[in-house]
Amino acid sequence: MSYLLGIDIGTSGTKTLICDHKGKVLATAMAEHDIYSPKPGWSEQDPKQWWDATCKATKAVLRKAKVKAGQITAAGLSGQMHGSVFLGEGVEPLRHALLWNDQRTGAECREIEEAAGGRKKLINMVGNPALTGFTAPKILWVRRHEPKVYERTKHILLPKDYIRYRMTGEYATEVGDASGTLLLDVKKRRWNRKLVSLLGLDAAMLPDCYESHEVSGRVHKSAAQELGLAEGTPVVGGSGDQPAGAVGNGIVTAGIASATLGTSGVMFVHADEPTYDPLGRVHTMCSAVAGKWCVFGCMLSAGGSLQWFRNHMALTEVAEAKKKKCDPYELLTAEAQKAEPGCEGLFFLPYLTGERCPYPDPNARGGWIGLTSRHNRAAMIRSLMEGVTYGMGDALRIMDEMGVKISTVRLSGGGARSKAWRQMQADIYGRKVATINSDEGPAYGVAILAGGGTGVWDSVPQACKAAIRETETLKPDKARAATYNKLHDQYQRLYAALKDEFAKIAALVG
Ligand code: ADP
Repeated sequence: MSYLLGIDIGTSGTKTLICDHKGKVLATAMAEHDIYSPKPGWSEQDPKQWWDATCKATKAVLRKAKVKAGQITAAGLSGQMHGSVFLGEGVEPLRHALLWNDQRTGAECREIEEAAGGRKKLINMVGNPALTGFTAPKILWVRRHEPKVYERTKHILLPKDYIRYRMTGEYATEVGDASGTLLLDVKKRRWNRKLVSLLGLDAAMLPDCYESHEVSGRVHKSAAQELGLAEGTPVVGGSGDQPAGAVGNGIVTAGIASATLGTSGVMFVHADEPTYDPLGRVHTMCSAVAGKWCVFGCMLSAGGSLQWFRNHMALTEVAEAKKKKCDPYELLTAEAQKAEPGCEGLFFLPYLTGERCPYPDPNARGGWIGLTSRHNRAAMIRSLMEGVTYGMGDALRIMDEMGVKISTVRLSGGGARSKAWRQMQADIYGRKVATINSDEGPAYGVAILAGGGTGVWDSVPQACKAAIRETETLKPDKARAATYNKLHDQYQRLYAALKDEFAKIAALVG
């Protein structure tokens, strides 16, 4: 028997997964990493820890699956997007990597928009506006603030591409992850040399760019020993965690979107053409399917809002759940059912950690609006779940404006464990929603890509068709969907009305 290996360099840890040639998952393993925040708003990791975690989790998953090194047909790589590894000669990074959630680059984002001739022109060149999390502003920050590091920099790599380099010795990336650097012409699927030169960067620092299924290198001898893999094992391009996770959810053909309601929330859709939101409220990137694209919006505090409520306002339920050996979220979502849909005009704004899509606004804040003495805790929980779902639905509304067709939304992430929340998503999105037979995410996606690139399957869509199926579908209730549609309009007007006040609050508290 032969198997496929997926490796995902996440933020909290590196996850590995082994599946067979039918897509059946045999085992997963995980090894954690530390996050450093040397100053408020800064977020860094040590790439050497990613490598140690990759070695540890690869050996562990082989052991758990009882698979021998020689039985691995190919490996795929996925990872947190946007992070920047600065390399000179050799494997030692010159400094810690700046991560996707690092907020230090506001000035560099403005500099990039100016160099491109404005936000609109930048979106035309690379498909997205300059956001603090993206890679290009991080490079400019290091050039300005750490010129000695910059002078010694020969290569800039994304997190999973550093691991590829350690595995194979190749400096390579692929179009999906590269889309999040702000230096890739997303339409043409190659580096935008004009922007690179306008920013005064050296194109030689950027790695070769592959499609996600293409073999980009082979595991070399010393890495094979460290990983417990066979020398020569092919490594495919893989993708950033969003496009890779989409493969894991089977979002590889037009008409199907995924809504991943985890701590953050991501609404993701496949697109056959490179369609952009001219206002840059959602991201357009290259998909893991060769020659195709994807559009997605990421909200920062989705399930995180309910987690906050659980941690601070549901200590009784947490204790009760412990006794009953159940999940406190089950008790909370059951209580929410006691309130009416729409909660008699009570709204929750879920901007507990600022927002990214559709409002790139670090000052945005959360809260309940519309409280009356009739409202109780059930209404507060239900309105919180509704507010999070409107936030996810905001991206869907923008995709509708862009003319992207979506008939089904596949649900994943912790929020999809609740049937009540699944039905609420159907009602608020106004579309059929479905759950699928796998919830392994990006590591599974890149294992499938590895199979797609080494002849196990003819193509990535064919692989997904063989491995992924819908297990439950729910339709929107017509009357509730109509009510929610009007309430969603009102929800959107609340941010518009409060935006300037949020900025004033931020100025007050510094
Ligand atoms: P992460 O995004 O951190 O990887 P998950 O995908 O597991 O984590 O999502 C965690 C979130 O999912 C929680 O914060 C909570 O909001 C939500 N969640 C988890 N379990 C349930 C449940 N049984 N019912 C409703 N929501 C849940």
